[in-house]
Amino acid sequence: MNDYIAPATQASPALTMLSEEEQMFRDSVRDFAQHTIKPHVRQMDEKAEFRHELIEEFFRLGLMSLGVPEEYGGSGGSFFQTILAIEELSAVDPSAGVIVDVQNTLVTNAILRWGSEAQKKLYLPRLAADTVGAYALSEAGSGSDAFAMTTRAENHKDDFILKGRKLWITNAKEAGLFLLFANANPEAGYRGITAFLIEKDAPGFKVGRKEDKLGIRASSTCELLLEDCKVSQENVLGETGKGYKIAIETLNEGRIGIGAQMSGLARGALEHAIAYARERQQFGKPIGDFQSVRFQLAEMALQVEAARNMTYNAARLKDAGAPFVKEAAMAKYFSSQVAEGVSSMAIEIFGGYGFTKDYPVEKYWRDSKIGKIYEGTSNMQLQTIANLILGK
Ligand SMILES: Cc1cc2nc3c(=O)[nH]c(=O)nc-3n(C[C@H](O)[C@H](O)[C@H](O)COP(=O)(O)OP(=O)(O)OC[C@H]3O[C@@H](n4cnc5c(N)ncnc54)[C@H](O)[C@@H]3O)c2cc1C
Repeated sequence: MNDYIAPATQASPALTMLSEEEQMFRDSVRDFAQHTIKPHVRQMDEKAEFRHELIEEFFRLGLMSLGVPEEYGGSGGSFFQTILAIEELSAVDPSAGVIVDVQNTLVTNAILRWGSEAQKKLYLPRLAADTVGAYALSEAGSGSDAFAMTTRAENHKDDFILKGRKLWITNAKEAGLFLLFANANPEAGYRGITAFLIEKDAPGFKVGRKEDKLGIRASSTCELLLEDCKVSQENVLGETGKGYKIAIETLNEGRIGIGAQMSGLARGALEHAIAYARERQQFGKPIGDFQSVRFQLAEMALQVEAARNMTYNAARLKDAGAPFVKEAAMAKYFSSQVAEGVSSMAIEIFGGYGFTKDYPVEKYWRDSKIGKIYEGTSNMQLQTIANLILGK
């Protein structure tokens, strides 16, 4: 097992102990989520649309470029800060959490790691200022088996011509830049997969149908159509044929973001359940006075605590440059399980009211379901964990 020992000179505080800077940052995002996002959550869920002004606020607050160095216009924060932001936003609205998650853990992250200096200078300031990013790997026939993609990129001297369709792409409706994977050499199998940076107005590129979903309804999920889409060689991210590595490595990191989304969601549901248990009277006293309800809340709180600790651990390992892939898969797997269980229990604590749309807990439960599906289903996380503890 890969136990990582921090260098002796490095302090190792408790996982949930925040530095002053982290605490100030966390409090400012919490305040923003509570005061600015919360009033719109129900309507955005009903309309299945995320308010444009709120996305503008994300940019203004630097939430869309948290890990981007200041020289490229970003906030120059740590990966852990990104995790704190996703957690706080998701405690109020998991759709807000995933918009920021995709932008930071997948798109800007990949450009920072694999982009040329010219690509960094061109795209990172835009992604920090006003351009939403999307990450396009999945297709109708290739989800868990992502490398079986059928989108093709034909090499035509200075350009590539892309043909195919992508499905389920988060942020697609709002995005100006797409990190998209296509196979440029199908004979080489997954070693032909190449990552491209595609602008929304590229010739032959179109955002298609938007899905009508069970949960995270305000987050857009759309199909992408590539009909002889012309992309310059300069828009290849990293090397031709190395897209599989970019996909695997970004998703390894992205999973910590989903852990944060799900542990934040679970905390949000728990907070509502605690407030309700204090207030709702039955048999002449608050339901929170009944031992069974108290134990239910205690059980929920310990699940949330465990999920948050696992997520923080994976994020802090990543920031420390230590191995984190197993811990990231565990955090994502566990947090999505906790999110579903805790939000379901919150509905029960609300009784009949919890089953209605007049109260927020049913939405948390609907939103929780996606945690076990995207960025690798729960089965795929177990496969990663098993491979790492047993060897392939
Ligand atoms: C709301 C939403 C947003 C999304 N956002 C994005 C995005 O931004 N970008 C993107 O690229 N994709 C995105 N996705 C796609 C998502 O990553 C896939 O849906 C996911 O990877 C699962 O693929 P699939 O739907 O094809 O299911 P399948 O792969 O067909 O899986 C179906 C079932 O079979 C199981 N299964 C499959 N293979 C195995 C195996 N080898 N062993 C055990 N069990 C297995 C799975 O665990 C699952 O239970 C999004 C999806 C949704 C619903």
